[in-house]
Amino acid sequence: MPTTTAQPLRKPAPTIISSGNGRAALPAGVRILAKGGSALEAVEACARIVEADPKDDTVGLGGLPNVLGVVELDASIVDGTTHTAGSVAALTGFLHPITVARAVMEQLPHVMLVGAGAARFAREIGAEEADLLTPDSRKHWIERLRLAKHTPASIATAHALGPVVLEMVKERGTVNFIAIDKRGNVASAVTTSGWGFKYPGRVGDSPIIGAGHYSDTRYGGAACTGFGELAMRNVTTKTAVDRLARGESAAEVAEEAIADANALVGHGSRLNIVVLAANGEHAAATTKRGVQYAYQSVGMTRAAVRPRAIVRRRSR
Ligand code: ASP
Repeated sequence: MPTTTAQPLRKPAPTIISSGNGRAALPAGVRILAKGGSALEAVEACARIVEADPKDDTVGLGGLPNVLGVVELDASIVDGTTHTAGSVAALTGFLHPITVARAVMEQLPHVMLVGAGAARFAREIGAEEADLLTPDSRKHWIERLRLAKHTPASIATAHALGPVVLEMVKERGTVNFIAIDKRGNVASAVTTSGWGFKYPGRVGDSPIIGAGHYSDTRYGGAACTGFGELAMRNVTTKTAVDRLARGESAAEVAEEAIADANALVGHGSRLNIVVLAANGEHAAATTKRGVQYAYQSVGMTRAAVRPRAIVRRRSR
């Protein structure tokens, strides 16, 4: 009778993957993982670096404002081992929404706080306050207003903001991170200022657990950027992790997520996803050429960048 030798399950090298704009933050996260730090700590640390970078106009400080010139932040964090999550939406005036989201997860019996309540809680925990509208992002806003035949004064009293938003919204971006640590725990974090010049109070996918991102240590994690409305309508990242659970590869899961988004009508056509499976395999897909993702494992001296698989929308 043939004998089988039980193979010891090899843990993958601790790794972090991110949207392309997260690349510069990856070495800091990998240093945490190399010292035995948790995936949760690593993704928060990476997100904080991008939040504090005024040059990234899609996240935190220097993020593009809403149509009224207010920078409204969405952020959330998921611990894939305890299945706990924390989230803030439409938060204004704080430098590190991701840390506020983590505090919601760890200190409150809630998952999500929005607007004034989120800001109140951020103050209670001593989160750092900041004026997020930099001279550059303000200039960009005023220029976009001008193209839509508005000024800061006229937009403040405009009655129907919807049509102005339609004209102004052209820019998006967000940063996301998924990590797997030495113990095999998976966690993810997403932080964003959302669509540039969005309708005030508009909340995207980034703070919606299971839409903007999701992690489950048993299977892996997934995170989206792009038209968040698509990820919300398809619950894209929970669906992706369910597919990992069924044994599909990271590459298959990433491409199916984009194909699902392509099948939706309305709310734009761009979506990007990164997927990290619990075995350390990772992949990413997009609807649009030229979108990359970044990754770094312990042992790599620097982060690497890879193109994403492109899944085109069929013309209908
Ligand atoms: N997903 C983000 C949102 O909808 C924006 C982006 O990633 O481009 O707010």
